[in-house]
Amino acid sequence: AHVKPDTTTPRSPAQDLASKETGAALSPAFLGANLFTDDKMRQAAPTAYSELEVARTTGAPLSRKVKDEIAKAMMDWAVKRGAVNFAHWFSPMRGVNAQKHDGFMDLDFSSPSVLKPMRKDFDGTKLFMAETDGSSFPNGGLRFTHTAAAFNSWDMKSPPFVRGETMYIPSCFVAWTGMALDEKTPLLRSMAAINEQGKRLLGLIGEKSIAEVRTFVGWEQEFFVVSKEAYLRRPDLMMCNRTVIGAPPPANQQLELGYFGPMPNAVARYCEALQKELWLLGCPMTTYHNEVAPGQHELAPIFSVSNVAVDQNMMCMELMQSLADMHGLYICFHEKPFKGVNGNGKHNNWSVQGILSSPGGGSVNMMKPGKAEQDQVRFMVATACLARGIKMHGDVVRCACIGAGNDHRLGAQEAPPAIMSLFPGVAVEAHMHAIVKGGPLTGYTGEQKALKYGCNNTQEITVNAEDRNRTAPFPHCGNRFEFRAVGGPANMAHANTLINTVLADSFCAWSDLVEGGLSPRDATAKILEESISAVFTGNGYDPEWPKIAVEERGLLNLHNTVTALDTFASEKNQELFSKHGVYLPEEVKARADVMFEKYFLTISIETKTMIEMINTALVPACAKDLKTYEGTALAGKRPALYASLLDAVAALEAAYDAIPHADVQTEAHYVSDALVPAMAAVRKVADEIEVVMEKGVYPFPTYLELLTGH
Ligand code: ADP
Ligand code: MG
Repeated sequence: AHVKPDTTTPRSPAQDLASKETGAALSPAFLGANLFTDDKMRQAAPTAYSELEVARTTGAPLSRKVKDEIAKAMMDWAVKRGAVNFAHWFSPMRGVNAQKHDGFMDLDFSSPSVLKPMRKDFDGTKLFMAETDGSSFPNGGLRFTHTAAAFNSWDMKSPPFVRGETMYIPSCFVAWTGMALDEKTPLLRSMAAINEQGKRLLGLIGEKSIAEVRTFVGWEQEFFVVSKEAYLRRPDLMMCNRTVIGAPPPANQQLELGYFGPMPNAVARYCEALQKELWLLGCPMTTYHNEVAPGQHELAPIFSVSNVAVDQNMMCMELMQSLADMHGLYICFHEKPFKGVNGNGKHNNWSVQGILSSPGGGSVNMMKPGKAEQDQVRFMVATACLARGIKMHGDVVRCACIGAGNDHRLGAQEAPPAIMSLFPGVAVEAHMHAIVKGGPLTGYTGEQKALKYGCNNTQEITVNAEDRNRTAPFPHCGNRFEFRAVGGPANMAHANTLINTVLADSFCAWSDLVEGGLSPRDATAKILEESISAVFTGNGYDPEWPKIAVEERGLLNLHNTVTALDTFASEKNQELFSKHGVYLPEEVKARADVMFEKYFLTISIETKTMIEMINTALVPACAKDLKTYEGTALAGKRPALYASLLDAVAALEAAYDAIPHADVQTEAHYVSDALVPAMAAVRKVADEIEVVMEKGVYPFPTYLELLTGH
């Protein structure tokens, strides 16, 4: 059947841009126009929808008929929105999403003599299951070439969307054995654990009418914008997404002019187009602004349920890069692309809410204190549980923010230190101590206060009970905790899987105590007694803090990726993850291997890139520069400096050649111990050379061009 294209809802500005039409200004009609929302599904297939609604909560199987009806409704809608293909869209353990486009079109073989195209039946079988090769994705030994089968299935709580000419189906990705090969599956399992343990805990403090406990995420994405033209002349940006050499210009961010400053024109136009695209896809981007570093910016949508938020973030990063291409720009998400200025984080605003079963719903936010006694109790219990999670499983929380890129960032600039602690606020900390000493759970309301500041031209401002603490990895922000340590390019499913699991485990431990006979107060006091040392409201950048944290409080300071990863597959953690149905022991070990391998490969590629850039471009430039100045009074430090570059790069090459062929853990430790410092030594000389060498001879675009040249 021929389906007429839908011309009543807005078109994609990217299409408009391509065809040189002017895009319409953002309006409410944009929101979700290219998203197959529940409303659309309900309208197109009401009976099938109501069965799906039940099945996606209970896990009950759907009949073939229902699956087919949903698939048909989905395809009809997608074709109207301009789709000719579909793709299961999923998150292998590699950082970027995967997709395989498959046509809605087929050939009609009823009359073999003529080529006759026809619409293929996109049925339930195709929607709910796609088979592929699991051995070609990172899998930590869970798949081999001779045992490779792996499958996609639609995450029914994350709606499909149309982008360009393809309908994307957000999916899980699992092996033939049922083990997870992706980031999404464990996230969904961790959300189920929070649901189970959260309902149990809320029931024990008298909240019986909770239908479901959900986790929510509101992400903030930081990024750098570089002109595409300059990017194409930086092999390090192209290979590693960061500069491995490069001297910061004399004025970078120290004047503090960047944050919230006026945006460069090209970036402002880009953000406007991006905002429309994101709204079309159902991701309500509401804020964007300049960040601290030159060339750096941030954007954030309104928060949503964790799995949807994570999908939106992955979609956003994909979209940002492809849209940037059309604007002649390149987007850099790396945690530390440029030395000497801030790096990119992805703040993970996180709350846990009980959805009420009463008709009309409503919810209770476990991370928001309040005037009512019940709100105070709920908040204190949940916050105590979070403190326990961070204290008992600080290693797991630390593994939520590992990576070669984050090693440059954690503990530096304004990013949080590598010690995992909780900042619930100064008054909350005092209240926690009072509970340990026998005080009641109630008493902390988090009441906002009126701020007067001495001028009559303005009104007083109502502010949160607590100040901001940007040195803490886990500050409280009024109605949520913000996990600030996640890296800019990360798939947030990983971090959320881990923090959900440690919190679910603490909900469980608290509930065990209460079911074992303790009062909620006593259970909370007991938990706090053991974990209040993870609560820290001071300055996380204080040089004394690591010492106090480790020696006096028994917290972990896992200062880099490899030391953090050494802890991941411990027996304690295998037990933790399998207890809550998040990972089987084999899956924990496989993840650790994948993370070690990714680290090893990243450092190896950076090293190789650096060696090539030095040998093929910087060394020849040095020779050229020497030719001009050698033997003259103007040679200055050139000869000595250029010679020391050769020594440093030779040492790096020797270290690279000595990489052991061993297990991934050993290899990762080797590159961390040997290559990282050797690269730093090369960089030190290369960056000194950059500021000595004659302008124009330096073979790469400089920081000035990269950070401000667009
Ligand atoms: P800030 O300037 O404090 O960093 P932003 O406005 O940039 O704040 O981002 C805050 C993010 O937190 C937004 O994505 C917002 O939707 C999200 N958020 C707000 N309330 C909650 C909540 N209860 N749970 C999760 N995320 C939330
Ligand atoms: Mg922000």
